[in-house]
Amino acid sequence: MKILLVVPILLVLVIGCVTTGPGGTRSLILIPTQTEVELGKEVVKEIESTETVLNNAQVQNYVSIIGNKIAKVCDRKDVKYTFKVLDNEEINAFACPGGFIYIYKGLMKKMDNEAQLAAVLAHEVGHVVARHSVKRLQAIYGYSIVMEVALGDKMSNAARQMIDAATGVVLLGYGRENEYQADEYGILYAKKAGYNPRGMIQVFEKFKQMEGQPPNTFQKLLMSHPPASDRISNGNREIQTVGGTGLPYYESEYVAIRSLLQ
Ligand SMILES: [Zn+2]
Repeated sequence: MKILLVVPILLVLVIGCVTTGPGGTRSLILIPTQTEVELGKEVVKEIESTETVLNNAQVQNYVSIIGNKIAKVCDRKDVKYTFKVLDNEEINAFACPGGFIYIYKGLMKKMDNEAQLAAVLAHEVGHVVARHSVKRLQAIYGYSIVMEVALGDKMSNAARQMIDAATGVVLLGYGRENEYQADEYGILYAKKAGYNPRGMIQVFEKFKQMEGQPPNTFQKLLMSHPPASDRISNGNREIQTVGGTGLPYYESEYVAIRSLLQ
């Protein structure tokens, strides 16, 4: 006797609803992490072909240690975060898709304690947690073009152009709302990692001073980020919620490392 087995077809609808922030914040992200990391690696290739990574193991190590403290307390753990200092006087920092974070030597020279560095790195980690890069690229170029990154050499010209443009998106910031969000996450993560979250406000105070007479090294950040006075008031509000103003700044540790920068 023949038994006809009707195998039910299981339609598995994969909904990419993932954590993109603190307190259970979730968003629908269709670009898988693996594709985001591949895209990030392409962007990194472009950046490191024009920028020089600072040749000082002690400084790089120090920045990695602080960055990893932030990564440990953040809300996204499916990527491996890396932190590198670029040998450039520019005053800026940025996050590539997939967790590749860079800070310019010029910004490090302007800061005066570890809590400030932690705050800047935490802001960048915030962009990665919120997946601002893939959200923005997907909005501009469409899902299928971004997904082509997974094809490697078989990518279309449109996908290649998107990768070129992605570097510009990364360097020019992710827009006002996303910057505020990264500030908010950054304040929380810096505090969770044991740093006084007022380090973030101290950095904005420096930006505010520089806004008056913008040198060339500050123009990119100025163009791409909200005014410092607004970031200060939003940041102070956030600090009232998260607390931690009794936490240390670690000044001497930072000053010792800063003295290695020329
Ligand atoms: Zn930012």
